[in-house]
Amino acid sequence: MKSRRDFLQTVVGSFATIPFLNADCAENTKGSVQSDGPVLRVAIMGLGSYGTRVAEAMKMCTRAKLVGVISGTPSKISNWQAKYNIPEKNCYNYENFDNIKNNPDIDAVYVITPNGLHHDFVIRVAKAGKHAICEKPMAVNAREGQEMVDACKKAGVKLLVGYRMHFEPKTLEIIRMRKAGEFGKVLFFEGLSGFQIGDPSQWRLNKALSGGGAMMDIGIYSINGGRYMIGEEPIWVTAQETKNNPKKFKEGIDETILFQLGFPGGATASCLSTYSMNNLDRFFLNGENGYAILQPATGYGPIMGRTHKGELTQPITTHQTVQMDEMAAIIFENKKPVVPVDGDEAVKDLKIIDSIYEAVKKGGRVELKL
Ligand code: NDP
Repeated sequence: MKSRRDFLQTVVGSFATIPFLNADCAENTKGSVQSDGPVLRVAIMGLGSYGTRVAEAMKMCTRAKLVGVISGTPSKISNWQAKYNIPEKNCYNYENFDNIKNNPDIDAVYVITPNGLHHDFVIRVAKAGKHAICEKPMAVNAREGQEMVDACKKAGVKLLVGYRMHFEPKTLEIIRMRKAGEFGKVLFFEGLSGFQIGDPSQWRLNKALSGGGAMMDIGIYSINGGRYMIGEEPIWVTAQETKNNPKKFKEGIDETILFQLGFPGGATASCLSTYSMNNLDRFFLNGENGYAILQPATGYGPIMGRTHKGELTQPITTHQTVQMDEMAAIIFENKKPVVPVDGDEAVKDLKIIDSIYEAVKKGGRVELKL
């Protein structure tokens, strides 16, 4: 059985001889929190596979610190308390976490539960007066996403989404080059995002918890990547679905979707989202004067790539460490990241996903207004 974690590690292994980079061996080994400015005190909700990765990466943060947990599994809470030195008063479950509003020692909650639960949990976090950080996809459709944005605005808290690639140095270098005109007019993006999913009983294949199939989970990387690599918002989408295993990928769970996006400057994107193939983590950007390739483009690292000018040599980072430090600056200092990581950014991806599903159903082109 292959998990998503296996996928991300396999992707790295298949393109690089460099060993898998984990939180303990990246370049930004900064030790414990040491910051001149305020430190973002974070409670993680959902102590699963990715929550664990974020917690480990946060050990190296200088501006963010794991101080609390919200979990439905008491044994995990006690393990995390011991491992991360979390006081009892900062531990909650899904029934009582609204009480976090009375806890002055927690600034933000990072929601890392199955997708279908993000909406309600983030709205409760906002109502408790805490900043919300939410994993991708932020919600299971654009309407729910917009409700989350509105709830956070109303509560006067920030809503940020775990778009870790927006802080990744090689990705940012390509964006810099594109903005500087080094590729000339950009006319094409290709995004390949996929892995072979294992255990048929997992929440990722349960529509109520996942909101959809590969598109929600991994295809979203090509959608988001197409937007930040081309630097425009798409104005139309077309999409085609294939399903070879309807027993495993039931109604509402997409196995494989090919989709195309059209951009106002004339560029097109051609993308693949799948739960049925490995070795798919690649971005290609082509302009009139040059090109960029990232492969792997979105795995945990090392991200590797080159342009028409040669190999990209920017530093290898632990994505989640950088993300959390940058999010502290966004929350406390209103720092503007090169590519936004807020709720509005996530709603755009969700509108595109809604339109891709619509295009699969009705065929032909669906117009987009983002
Ligand atoms: P896991 O299944 O490993 O963990 C999810 C956790 O959510 C569980 O361990 C559980 O924690 C909690 N949970 C609460 N209710 C449920 C429920 N009904 N069913 C299952 N779990 C529940 O998932 P991942 O950690 O892989 O994914 C979580 C989120 O993170 C998803 O939205 C996913 O898309 C995103 N993600 C993002 C990645 C990125 O690179 N940005 C990478 C991987 C995932 P507890 O027992 O503590 O309650």
